Amino acid sequence: MKPNTTTAMQNLIDEVRSTMPFGASEAQLCADSCQGCSMKLLEFLETELEDWEQKLQDGIQPSFGDVHKMGKTCKKIYMVLKKNGLVED
Ligand code: SF4
Repeated sequence: MKPNTTTAMQNLIDEVRSTMPFGASEAQLCADSCQGCSMKLLEFLETELEDWEQKLQDGIQPSFGDVHKMGKTCKKIYMVLKKNGLVED
C-alpha cells in the first residue's frame, strides 16, 4: 500500500502551526538578541504552509520529497527561532 504523504504533510502543518509563534508581536520577535530575522522567517514559513494547505485542499498529493523538504525547512527555521528565544524545546 502506498504510504499517505497527504496525511504526513497535514500532520506536519498542524504541528508547525501549533509550535511556531505565528501570533507573536513585532516587539516579541524583534528582541535584543536577534540572530537571523525571525519575522522574515515566520512570514516565509506562513507562505509555505498556506501554499501546501491550498494544494492539499485541491487534492494534490505531495511527494516524499515535498514532505521531507518541508520538514527540513521547518526544522531550520525552528532552530533560528530557538536561538532567538522564541520557542521552547
Ligand atoms: S532582523 Fe528581523 S526580527 Fe530581528 S530586529 Fe530586525 S526585523 Fe526584527
